Amino acid sequence: MNKPDTQINPIHLDKIDELPLIPLRGLILFPEMIIHFDVGRDKSIKALEAAMTLNQEVVLVAQKDLEVEDPKPEDIYPIGTRATVKQLLKMPGNLTRVLVEVQNRVKIEEYLSQEPYFEVKVEDVLPMPVQNKETKALMRMVRQAFLEYINLTRKATPDLMMGIEGIDSPDELVDMVGANLLLEIEESQDILQEMHPITRLEKTYEYLVKELELLEIEKDIDDKVKNQMDKQQKEYFLREQIRVIQEELGEGHGGATGIVETYLKKLYKLNLADDIKKKVEDEIFKLNKIPSGSSEAGVVQTYVEWVLDLPWNKETKETIDIKKAREILDKDHYALYKVKERVLEYLAVLKLSNQLKGPILCLVGPPGVGKTSIAKSIAKALGRKFARMSLGGMRDEAEIRGHRRTYVGAIPGRIIYNMKQAGSRNPLFLLDEIDKMSQDFRGDPASALLEVLDPEQNSTFTDNYLELPFDLSKVMFVTTANTVSTIPRPLLDRMEIIEVSGYIEEEKLNIATKYLLPKQLKNHGLKKSNISISDETIRDVINYYTRESGVRELERQLARICRVVAKEIVEEDKKRVTINPKNIEKFLGLKKFRYEKVEGEAEIGLVNGLAWTSVGGDTLQIEAVSMPGKGTLDLTGQLGDVMKESAKAGISYIRSKAAEFDLDPDFYKNLDIHLHVPEGAIPKDGPSAGITMTTALFSLLTKKPVPQNLAMTGEITLRGRVLPIGGVKEKLLAAHRAGITNIIIPKENEKDLEEIPGDILEKLTINTVSSMEEVIKIVFGGSKK
Ligand code: ADP
Repeated sequence: MNKPDTQINPIHLDKIDELPLIPLRGLILFPEMIIHFDVGRDKSIKALEAAMTLNQEVVLVAQKDLEVEDPKPEDIYPIGTRATVKQLLKMPGNLTRVLVEVQNRVKIEEYLSQEPYFEVKVEDVLPMPVQNKETKALMRMVRQAFLEYINLTRKATPDLMMGIEGIDSPDELVDMVGANLLLEIEESQDILQEMHPITRLEKTYEYLVKELELLEIEKDIDDKVKNQMDKQQKEYFLREQIRVIQEELGEGHGGATGIVETYLKKLYKLNLADDIKKKVEDEIFKLNKIPSGSSEAGVVQTYVEWVLDLPWNKETKETIDIKKAREILDKDHYALYKVKERVLEYLAVLKLSNQLKGPILCLVGPPGVGKTSIAKSIAKALGRKFARMSLGGMRDEAEIRGHRRTYVGAIPGRIIYNMKQAGSRNPLFLLDEIDKMSQDFRGDPASALLEVLDPEQNSTFTDNYLELPFDLSKVMFVTTANTVSTIPRPLLDRMEIIEVSGYIEEEKLNIATKYLLPKQLKNHGLKKSNISISDETIRDVINYYTRESGVRELERQLARICRVVAKEIVEEDKKRVTINPKNIEKFLGLKKFRYEKVEGEAEIGLVNGLAWTSVGGDTLQIEAVSMPGKGTLDLTGQLGDVMKESAKAGISYIRSKAAEFDLDPDFYKNLDIHLHVPEGAIPKDGPSAGITMTTALFSLLTKKPVPQNLAMTGEITLRGRVLPIGGVKEKLLAAHRAGITNIIIPKENEKDLEEIPGDILEKLTINTVSSMEEVIKIVFGGSKK
């Protein structure tokens, strides 16, 4: 688009017009503007009227001094614009509002008359179509500066921006910029009346740049003022917050020094060893150096408070009085004779040796059999405070030992935490579920626990958070577990195991009537006379609503009954509510368990086994089926590896004895066998189902039925020997619960029968065996044909 440079010369149109003139005050108009303004001066109104009778055109020119009321020609600038009047509107106060459309610039040639209005002879000044490199460069600069200007002044509209881009005549560009630039009158007029397009562009650019600078300065000042205000406001708010926090903490007056004094006083009362005292003192003095209310001060304060709250030297007086201990244990617990004896023996040794260096008591048994409750009674008997911490599911060493203080939000581990709760340094500390600890990448809680329990080390137990040695040697630790099999070996070695086994129906009934029900009545604000419940009904609760070794669920169900009774007494104004086997469902809902007596029908491939899980004994049915196939053995149900191996051992045993049992020696080659143990909620494992599985296989292969009033338990070897198993008491109680009368157990377990209550033993026929052949004889009445 390189056009040859045109000579820059204003083009004057020949046509010269004679038009009425209106002098403007404080207003410079540029071509293309559509604008309205108010006219009030007589002379101007007359000029307007004249224009309306002609062709509606007027000349609009600014007067040099807007103060002048009645300007003379010399008071008026020589260059203005020609405009068409579009609209007139009479306004109150003798004003006329005029809407005009500005045409082009004009130069006043001559004043033709001055009264009754100015009439002038004008010469049009039209935009010059100049296009050369200089104008182009200048236009670009002006455009850019103008865009910046309208952005800063927030005047940018899409129309304006497009308009600016679309103009290619320098004069038109200047006119548009002039119309939108807020300048002094003289400056605007300067732009308007400049004739040379390049000079016009230059002047416009200069004014733009000057305006931009001013705007920049304005903005700076504005920002500064705003910042200052923001800062002041922020400081004000922060101060207010600190004030409120300090008030809440009751530190309004003393500030840091007040706290420091209080802490120091507390510290000196504790009588700590010198090195510990020195360390804590250092921490307390830190508070003087850091601003109170800062987060660092918070961290230090939390720490100091933890240290000062610990029972460093507080102790309860211990009296080991065996007689009193027996009384308390008896009062709180029904039965559990053996357990109580063992506990008393332990206490007697403790009294004689007068130190806690002996083994640690570990109460092992299914849930709800009273382990926690025994520990509480021991604490009561010894006059010790009671602290309790569950280790179930714990896998992070830091739970025991705490996190370092550098760790955000760190607090001491649970040992120290519980010591603080106990408020004495010699409580009875119950570590629950020691068999349920696990271990992973976060360290080994068992080894941390070992340090806690070890009398050689625990007098200087150091929590990661406290970083101070705390003496645990006066704590009496007692642990509980559901089973010994998963207690980490090194811990197990330090413990004295006392087994607390499950209860039979008779015992549960007694516990319910003598302990649980009175306790629940009290909890629910009921009197004994409010409720009538027979033993028979409680037996039904035990049998149809619970299936457990302990009495926890039983206690829950009794609580439920109490709730309903309380509701009826309040709502229906009853004095006494009767619960009997007929209306029990109203209180507890539909029966949850069917207490079915195992039916006597004998079946092929179906054998009752006895299992011992962590929640007590249970019966389980083992099923075996076969189909034509290639000799595979499938095992399903929630079985562990040991159980699968037992099944394989059973098959091998039968194969090795095939001839003896009159079986086809190749039976396994064309049969697929499937053994299934229906899933209880609890996974089963262990070798004790060995003889049960073998019996099921044997029954299947020989097509001999197995009586269903019979249950068995025992491990089997490849050569058919039957080895002893654990949990005999639990298993026999479970069998009894299920109504089984005939039982097979390993001979070596005979000694365990001592623990079984006589009245139960009376109802069971117990066969003891040492070989699989004996089992087969008892079940099928002889191995040979
Ligand atoms: P565990 O710690 O073995 O899981 P708990 O000690 O929590 O069991 O016992 C559950 C509830 O049963 C407690 O209310 C407890 O007092 C009660 N309980 C358990 N055994 C007996 C018992 N032999 N005599 C009286 N109450 C018992």
